[in-house]
Amino acid sequence: MAPEPGICEEKKRLQEELGRAIVQLSELQNLQMQDAHGNDPASDERIVTARQIKKAAKIALIQHLEQHGCWADELEYPPYPPKVATGRR
Ligand SMILES: [Zn+2]
Repeated sequence: MAPEPGICEEKKRLQEELGRAIVQLSELQNLQMQDAHGNDPASDERIVTARQIKKAAKIALIQHLEQHGCWADELEYPPYPPKVATGRR
């Protein structure tokens, strides 16, 4: 299958990765909220890890956009992901 012109495959891949990382992080945060009185240190740790993964994915995407110059291929996805509400830490 020929790649669609104007769409950067690498950017797509990085966006998907970031999307997954965001979903993963919010799932963990939801779980922790449901278990607020539990205060499970392992769950804190998973959230910290998920945050790092998300941050790394975001940096990788932005670096790619800057180096490859493929910002404007598709406009449905903001170049900088919307800020996720800064929950409690
Ligand atoms: Zn690109």
